[in-house]
Amino acid sequence: MPSDCSPRFLASDNTSGVCPEALEYLIAANQSDDLAYGNDAWTQRASDRFRTLFDYDCDVFFVFNGTAANSLSLASLSQSYHSVICHELAHIETDECGGPEFFSNGSKLLTASGEHGKLTPDGIERLVTKRSDIHYPKPRVVSITQATEVGTLYTREELLGIRAMADKYDLRLHMDGARFANACAALEASPAELTWQAGVDVLCFSGTKNGLPMGEAVVFFNRDMAEDFDYRCKQAGQLASKMRFIAAPWLGLLETGAWLDNARHANAMARYLAEGLTTLPGARLMFPPQANSVFVELPPDMLARLRELGWTFYTFIGAGGARFVCAWNTSTELLDELLTDIRTALEAG
Ligand SMILES: *Cc1c(COP(=O)(O)O)cnc(C)c1O
Repeated sequence: MPSDCSPRFLASDNTSGVCPEALEYLIAANQSDDLAYGNDAWTQRASDRFRTLFDYDCDVFFVFNGTAANSLSLASLSQSYHSVICHELAHIETDECGGPEFFSNGSKLLTASGEHGKLTPDGIERLVTKRSDIHYPKPRVVSITQATEVGTLYTREELLGIRAMADKYDLRLHMDGARFANACAALEASPAELTWQAGVDVLCFSGTKNGLPMGEAVVFFNRDMAEDFDYRCKQAGQLASKMRFIAAPWLGLLETGAWLDNARHANAMARYLAEGLTTLPGARLMFPPQANSVFVELPPDMLARLRELGWTFYTFIGAGGARFVCAWNTSTELLDELLTDIRTALEAG
């Protein structure tokens, strides 16, 4: 990398820092000591606040990261001889190093394809009915990602369609909400509408990608399935002894409304970038940019040029191409720089 090109970060929404609201609550939580292991006042307040947000008496647990949230919640929904149906591009399949299988002691992931990174009721039914003998891992869970790994969204109608199919075969419904806030913002839907009102049993709600230093909330709407989840977290090394420093920043996001403002901003920035790209002949958007990610197909030499210029982005996530992700603090100035560099490279190439 030439020394005059300092890195510019659009690789993921976890390259951004901590938003001011989360930081303010983190500092407030540091003003006095409190009980450990989630027995503190902040954790209680944050859990109650989730119940208000979802308008539901859900069980809430805090863990360090998304892989743990997904793996441990899926393990709660299935026995080792069960299977979990997910999209072939699902993070649980492609990016969790076998965590879901490991923590469930072997539950197999069964993958389906589907346009725009989305499972369909038909795709689910095909996997469920493919076999009914004792030699096939019994389908028990459907896992969907909202917003998806390729930056698209399940509409409320699509969620209800998936729930109806899940009901037909007595399947439980898990939602990977690494970008759940972005989905609520983009669909102008309440957290309730996109979860328990659509029959979601458990949601892994990411704070990290929404502006926290770290921390995800595992929200069980089906509270029976949360039985002994605290022990599961402890055994997996996911019980934070100073849990208040995850819970307080979460409360900062929720009480101030920053969770939604941050997501709205990130989505708006992705739209801005996508609109800019559509004016550049030679750059092709790979998916409708419905949340905060933009996937664009560019010639390989151009990707190399962008890297030389300091741009950070992934090409192995989702379906290839270059993925640019906007976050709570992404600026139009940064995106204009990227658009200018892509335009210049396209014209030179
Ligand atoms: C980021 C992400 C996660 C969580 O990843 P961790 O690095 O384990 O926190 C889960 N699912 C999706 C779709 C993600 O993008």
